[in-house]
Amino acid sequence: MKTVILEKPGRFVLTDTDSPTAPGPGEVLTKVRRIGICGTDIHAFRGDQPFFEYPRILGHELAVDVVEPGPEVGNLKTGDLCAVEPYLNCGNCIACRAGKSNCCTRLLVPGVHVDGGMREFMLLPANKLHLSGRLSADQLALVEPLGIGFHAVGRANPQPGESVLIIGAGPIGLGVVAFALLRCCRVLVTDVRAERLAFCREHFPEIHTIQAGENALSGIQNACNGELPSIVFDATGNRRSMENAVSLTASGGRLVFVGLVLGEISFNDPEFHRKELTLLASRNARGNEYPAIITHIEKGEVDTAPWVTHRASMSSLPDIFADWVAPESRIIKGMLEV
Ligand SMILES: [Zn+2]
Ligand SMILES: [Zn+2]
Repeated sequence: MKTVILEKPGRFVLTDTDSPTAPGPGEVLTKVRRIGICGTDIHAFRGDQPFFEYPRILGHELAVDVVEPGPEVGNLKTGDLCAVEPYLNCGNCIACRAGKSNCCTRLLVPGVHVDGGMREFMLLPANKLHLSGRLSADQLALVEPLGIGFHAVGRANPQPGESVLIIGAGPIGLGVVAFALLRCCRVLVTDVRAERLAFCREHFPEIHTIQAGENALSGIQNACNGELPSIVFDATGNRRSMENAVSLTASGGRLVFVGLVLGEISFNDPEFHRKELTLLASRNARGNEYPAIITHIEKGEVDTAPWVTHRASMSSLPDIFADWVAPESRIIKGMLEV
């Protein structure tokens, strides 16, 4: 079967690999239909993803068709189109026992820690496939990145009328925006990139966009009746942004780090203490959140169609990827068809 392998930083190759064997109990043989490209893939390509092992088959934002359900798989049949929850958890550790499959101590993410979906066929656990009878393959491939935002919003649990600031308007930040709006919050977004703010204004006309930088604080206060937002999500993965986010959060508020930075961060403890902030990490999403995300898309409450700015066949990836990730490409979401 056709397979794209990231051999080493900067080098994708299109090759042939053996098709998977027949599915075992609880497994499903699937045909990969769509693969979304995200920051993790870009970091792996650039070689700045620490502890990343090469060669690796990337691809974790997946829509797949069921080809053959294995024994003991009752809920899926041939032809079913599904989103993939790419978080293979152990089921036994302290996090799994508490229902926190997203932060399993032995978590394996296909496309990151083990081989992912840039190939024609894949064996996947049936319990990681989330069916929709109505969504397109594109929509199902975007459930995973949307899930990051859905889970992050759930961590903060905003109440109607609260002011929410999202720092960073990439695909993850856009997901946070979409689900914060569904909670009837006043939503503010900042980003250093003006074109990303313009994209937000076009697709979410009810939000406030504020250029990141020196005047951001006054812009934020102006949008919040002179106060600060009671919830701040940082989706930048930028150390300085995350450190500064403490000063943008209202007293008594919650600060959620959706992105991560590979290293240490620090902030002023008296300010953190004086405000009695709640600091939350947010990682991945949980399987039981997938049906809710799919329902929101089915109802048209979240529309990810405009996010797909770049599209190509999987086979052409080795030729086009360097162009996609060049700064001038203004990519939001790249989508591969298999
Ligand atoms: Zn991703
Ligand atoms: Zn576990």
